[in-house]
Amino acid sequence: MTISKREFLIGAGATAAALGLRTASARAAARREWDLIVVGGGNSGLPAAIFAAQRGASVLIIEAAGALGGTLFLSSGQMSAAGTRLQRERGIDDTPQLHYDDIMRISKGHANPELVRLAVNAAAPAFDWLLANGFKVRDGHPITGTTHEPYSRARYAWGQNGGRSILEVLNTQLAPHIESGRVMALVGHSAVDLTRDSRGAILGVVTRGPDGRKTSHRGRKVALTAGGYTANPVMYEKYEGIRTFTRATYPFSQGQGIELGLSVGGFVRGGEYHTPLFGAVLEYEEYPSAIRAMVRHFPPERPPYEILVARDGKRFLREDIPSHDAHEHAIRKLQEESCWVIYDEAIRKAAPSLVRGGFSGPWTDADTAAAYEKGLPSFTRADDLESLARKAGIDPAGLLATVKDYNDGRAAGRDALGRQHMPMPIGSGPFYALKLHSWNLLSFAGLGTNAKLQVTRADGTPIPNLYAAGELLGCAQLMGDSQCGGMSVMPALSFGRLLGHELIDFNA
Ligand SMILES: Cc1cc2nc3c(=O)[nH]c(=O)nc-3n(C[C@H](O)[C@H](O)[C@H](O)COP(=O)(O)OP(=O)(O)OC[C@H]3O[C@@H](n4cnc5c(N)ncnc54)[C@H](O)[C@@H]3O)c2cc1C
Repeated sequence: MTISKREFLIGAGATAAALGLRTASARAAARREWDLIVVGGGNSGLPAAIFAAQRGASVLIIEAAGALGGTLFLSSGQMSAAGTRLQRERGIDDTPQLHYDDIMRISKGHANPELVRLAVNAAAPAFDWLLANGFKVRDGHPITGTTHEPYSRARYAWGQNGGRSILEVLNTQLAPHIESGRVMALVGHSAVDLTRDSRGAILGVVTRGPDGRKTSHRGRKVALTAGGYTANPVMYEKYEGIRTFTRATYPFSQGQGIELGLSVGGFVRGGEYHTPLFGAVLEYEEYPSAIRAMVRHFPPERPPYEILVARDGKRFLREDIPSHDAHEHAIRKLQEESCWVIYDEAIRKAAPSLVRGGFSGPWTDADTAAAYEKGLPSFTRADDLESLARKAGIDPAGLLATVKDYNDGRAAGRDALGRQHMPMPIGSGPFYALKLHSWNLLSFAGLGTNAKLQVTRADGTPIPNLYAAGELLGCAQLMGDSQCGGMSVMPALSFGRLLGHELIDFNA
């Protein structure tokens, strides 16, 4: 799936009208001095505005897209929160401390302890607030989760309509504040600059509208909640040290909030913890590409029949290791974060479905067969292994040696990498090579803040009046070099809520 900026821009009037939310003009917004200007009306910006308004603050939301909501339009909306009302009702014993321990375990101690502590403490109140305002979770939730490293407790839940279920609650809660005039939403306008006084204290935000005209807005406090940079290949490579291969994220995730923070003395951290997801089948050969389908690689759900090889034809991972993290770290080390699933005709017939749908909708075995038949990018078939390797771009000698080693090890019951599940050899053609790529939905680098969510300089001193929340802080802060389930949506929402509810002192 490819999502264009245009789709979200032309949604402007329609979406706002459908929600009954009145949007402001830049000129009207510029007439007032606001207690708080929120830059980015998404998952963290909307709760910041709602809770600040509840405390009596006047709030201007500046939103680059044509509609409020940000990543919530696309996100699966999976959240992790410990000690929630939902857990108590289901008899699940859980605490923020256990959540904290899980995050530090999964992140191998690389997450930021201060911010993780803040996040696990803030999660349940924010989650319970969603529930109290009509949010409904899917049947059987919360769960320990199987799409990332599982948690030790069932604390992982998401809405019946993914991220949009969260957005429904946020829109409903925001509407009365917009109606009363306490909050104004300026959509289709990008924040392009921050204004400040001679001490460096932030005084407001400059926006650029669809006609290119700039307008200056005065705000006593400014919260940067403009999301990450996953849709900006240049920034992605700059911070994460590798190009982005896929295009599956929100088109307004351009990292502009980070640039704004940098322009007034902030600093960026965390990119070295870049951790991709595993198993995307790409639609094109050119990067970044849309994702056509996914491979089922989590052994507890589908034990592997195939082998995985790198460009040199060698295996690089014990394929039946029951860990997403192991797969993600293994692919991260490979050239262009890509590898191939290798199998033969007998495995194709006997094994459970390998490919599943993903961003482009459902996928069946018939789709896989058709993809090989048509020779779609990523799908290679040949009668012998050497031709397969040549066609797919794998080293032929390496692949031949690897298949022989694997088959010999299997026959002897001693796999070189310690794999246990080896139901069938890779024996006779036709042979198949399915190219897999890493994929990413998250920005690991972000603006440095302290535990009060004040944007700081590299020396730790806060930039007066400037706060930040959401993915713009960088996912490494809450995940280290791992993908911790629900630790982006939930903290974005709960940090936004914290800013509005208590962290911003409107009297200071
Ligand atoms: C497909 C997908 C699935 C995901 N699934 C999960 C999941 O299940 N669990 C999980 O934890 N995480 C998930 N994530 C990540 C998670 O959704 C995000 O990290 C999180 O919602 C980000 O919230 P945010 O408020 O920081 O940013 P956003 O919700 O993106 O909001 C930022 C807003 O700022 C606006 N903006 C940007 N630049 C400017 C500017 N210059 N001026 C004004 N406005 C601007 C944007 O248009 C946007 O509306 C997923 C992400 C994607 C893309």
